[in-house]
Amino acid sequence: MANHTKNSLLEAITVSSEQGRAIPDAATGETMGYVPQHTIADLEAAVAAAHEAQPAWAALGHAKRSEILHKMADEVEAHAEDLAQIISQEQGKPLGGMGSRFEVGGCAVWLRSAAETPLEPELLFEADGTRSEMHFAPVGVVGAISPWNWPAMIAIWQIAPSLRMGNTVVAKPSEYTPLSVLALIELLRRHVPEGVLTGISGDREIGAALAAHEGIDKLMFTGSTRTGREIVKSSANNLARLTLELGGNDPGIVLPGTDVKAVAEQIFGGVFINTGQTCASLKRLYVHDSVYDELVEALGTLAEAAKLGPGLDEDSQLGPLTTAQQFRIVSELVEDAKARGGRIVTGGEAAPDLGPHFYKPTIVADIDDGARLVDEEQFGPVLPVIRYSDVEDAVARANASDQALGASIWGDKDEARKLAERIESGTVWVNQHGTLNPMVPFGGVKQSGYGLEFGSHGLKAVANPKVITF
Ligand code: NAD
Repeated sequence: MANHTKNSLLEAITVSSEQGRAIPDAATGETMGYVPQHTIADLEAAVAAAHEAQPAWAALGHAKRSEILHKMADEVEAHAEDLAQIISQEQGKPLGGMGSRFEVGGCAVWLRSAAETPLEPELLFEADGTRSEMHFAPVGVVGAISPWNWPAMIAIWQIAPSLRMGNTVVAKPSEYTPLSVLALIELLRRHVPEGVLTGISGDREIGAALAAHEGIDKLMFTGSTRTGREIVKSSANNLARLTLELGGNDPGIVLPGTDVKAVAEQIFGGVFINTGQTCASLKRLYVHDSVYDELVEALGTLAEAAKLGPGLDEDSQLGPLTTAQQFRIVSELVEDAKARGGRIVTGGEAAPDLGPHFYKPTIVADIDDGARLVDEEQFGPVLPVIRYSDVEDAVARANASDQALGASIWGDKDEARKLAERIESGTVWVNQHGTLNPMVPFGGVKQSGYGLEFGSHGLKAVANPKVITF
């Protein structure tokens, strides 16, 4: 276990047990701190302050705001270890690898990228002495509602571009991981005037009130498809512009004759990142007959070797499920797979000796579409591996889902690249899965949502398009 020295960042945001709600350590279930429980009155005050602060923030201009975003990134880097420890404890992901230190590093990278991405007015038309240009003006006040799986990273994806474009922000973290986000916001707020960025901690009710608030001009939402639908309904009243990053059930297709040794580790990483609790992790793998047995065995070996343990243990590679509810969902889907004759290659059970929500990394073979584990988003450390013999059939099955966030194709690069055009998905990766780049837009289609984040597309998504003709 890591040697815990005093975490001054955690101390700065936690309140006393009488004033706040206990937040459990994801690995042990023991209380790690108390989070303030904000009320509707606090939300009202935050939105009012955001309105008041917005004109001056917009008037600062891009160059000054970009400078401030860089200072925020410096601040995050200066407190990186404290923030990473809070995330690992609260959310459960390991400190190392693609874990909480990586998440905190990503926060700084996305802040700097939002600061540096150029966004010039676009020439739309020019003839006979008339010119039309598209400009990108601030939207106003942005509501930012985030989930619990990558709490700080997803919050920064919403906050950084919004601030860069001259908006002010009211951010509502998941009720399961508020400390990680309030800690991040505490660092960012050191560099902006009052009202520019406020964190509101609360449950679904506070989220619904924020989404429906008349004072919100744009809502950035990342979470489940079910909640996304509720948010669309509330936007009928305030006409808030929406970016919806919703759930995914990402397919992977392994082509005939693929070199298993060349892809197995990457596939494993694409599935088990953050213990499978990642919107765009690989969630169902279609493998051609010719390499099926070899790949199943290779994945089984990797899963057995992966070290499961508390996030704060330096040598953990996978952590616990973050919530009791997610632990139940994963257990249920695996039991259903077993009942349907799915073959447990490795795992297939909890690891209660480690803590209440640990589930062993699991590979399920000889399973088919129609099983809940294939059709539903498991959001946990379990991969169903489905056999196919005809590539056309694999493409049809990959496209059969109503979720369409990410997908990947593995094998010959040219063949995979061609096939990528026929996959219905926001992103299709070739010989990789889940790699994100702050300059490359990311977003879902179908029931996985709409709107893009990152790069200049992401900046435009938090701006009002304005045509000037002269
Ligand atoms: P969730 O929808 O339950 O909660 C997300 C947030 O919405 C929380 O802050 C919650 O308090 C709030 N909320 C709940 N009800 C609300 C309402 N009626 N109005 C407004 N806000 C409300 O999702 P979750 O369980 O926290 O996250 C897991 C889901 O998020 C998975 O489906 C996952 O795939 C998805 N996800 C998607 C992406 C992406 O980029 N597409 C990224 C991460 C997670």
